[in-house]
Amino acid sequence: MPTYRAPRGTRDLLPVERAAFARLERLARELAARYGYREIEVPLFEQGAVFERGIGEVTDVVEKELFRVSPSRGEERERWALRPEATAGICRAYVEHGMQTWPQPVKLTLTGPMFRYDRPQAGRYRQFWQWNVEAIGDPGPAVDAELIELGLRFYRDAGLGDVEVLVNSIGDPACRPAYLAELAAYFRRHVEALPELERRRLETNPLRLLDSKEPSMAALVAAAPKSVDALCAACAAHFAGVRAHLDAIGVAFRLEPSLVRGLDYYTRTTFEFYRRGAEGQQQALGGGGRYDGLVELLGGKPTPGIGFALGLDRVVLALESAGADPVAEHGPVAVVVGADPVDTAGRLAVATRLREAGLAVRADLSTRRLGRQLEAAVKEGAHFAVILGDELAAGDVQLRDLDGASQKPVPLADLVSLLRRKTAGA
Ligand code: AMP
Repeated sequence: MPTYRAPRGTRDLLPVERAAFARLERLARELAARYGYREIEVPLFEQGAVFERGIGEVTDVVEKELFRVSPSRGEERERWALRPEATAGICRAYVEHGMQTWPQPVKLTLTGPMFRYDRPQAGRYRQFWQWNVEAIGDPGPAVDAELIELGLRFYRDAGLGDVEVLVNSIGDPACRPAYLAELAAYFRRHVEALPELERRRLETNPLRLLDSKEPSMAALVAAAPKSVDALCAACAAHFAGVRAHLDAIGVAFRLEPSLVRGLDYYTRTTFEFYRRGAEGQQQALGGGGRYDGLVELLGGKPTPGIGFALGLDRVVLALESAGADPVAEHGPVAVVVGADPVDTAGRLAVATRLREAGLAVRADLSTRRLGRQLEAAVKEGAHFAVILGDELAAGDVQLRDLDGASQKPVPLADLVSLLRRKTAGA
């Protein structure tokens, strides 16, 4: 057993897995740009209050899972927390940088690690990666549909063809209080059947009972009053608009009346992405919703917003379990080897020139024999070996085609154009 190991709930992404993540990140970036979202970075940690206020004190994410950071030294007595999600930080940045004066909506995207101090299990890590997309300053409902379609496209382009979206509306401050009262009254009638945590939540945040992780709650939740039946006229019209826009662009969706999402800031539209047949198993691939009150909660002017967070880890796991081919890794085009075992400087100099010209090249920097250097080049899948030998005095090197095993002397001066031509398939 090694002395030092990655912390529980984290893992190293070794090159093959990192390549799978990188492919998803590239896809996310490319799609975000195509849909008009611009990249933003916010810190990996924030004042704890950004999450407590933004996400809500009585949520799993803040109550149980917030990764708090309290430096024991220094003048700064700030209570920080690692970001459990990106929306609160992005909205904090929106307010801090006066983005309400920019043309609205401000469409932002971010890909990066998030942290939740949860009990680790399959598909649930303490450090995981999300792709976030946020459209701030647009009340919808058209943008709601646009975002949902973007999420589905991501999964399809990533290679998961069986992802479906579950959609709901949870109302707004006009209609939610009455609905919450009705919901609380319903659960109070069944208080004997509620587990301890759910009883506490009944008094602080009854909506959360609907996405309880307790299996014993399933039947109660299924029979609970539905938010969609309690929407005010404005919320009902908004939700009808979302559905009409989804229909108009041919996006199939499933209405899921108990979909409330784990964070307090959501209003109106909520949605989650699942693989068909895997819903209800805490296996959401991603989710999002509208957060029309969040910017104001964080000190800004009232500003509507909507976004999603798609977990990349679960997509990689799903692709692996579906038997998708691992992403091809590209080895070097050429390896520079030498007959003089100690002349590493000569090999490095040639490799540097080739890299400067944009070629993917490794220099063998060992002092092993030429034969061994060539064996290593073959093993790592290089197409060519550039061999430095006696001809170097006349300005020539040997170029060996490792695939075809042919070899010929070429002028060092021609090497770049020759390799470029050969790697371009000419
Ligand atoms: P949430 O904000 O909790 O809805 O998370 C959005 C997505 O991020 C989920 O659907 C997951 O794909 C992913 N996710 C959330 N928490 C974790 C975690 N602890 N480990 C891995 N992925 C996660």
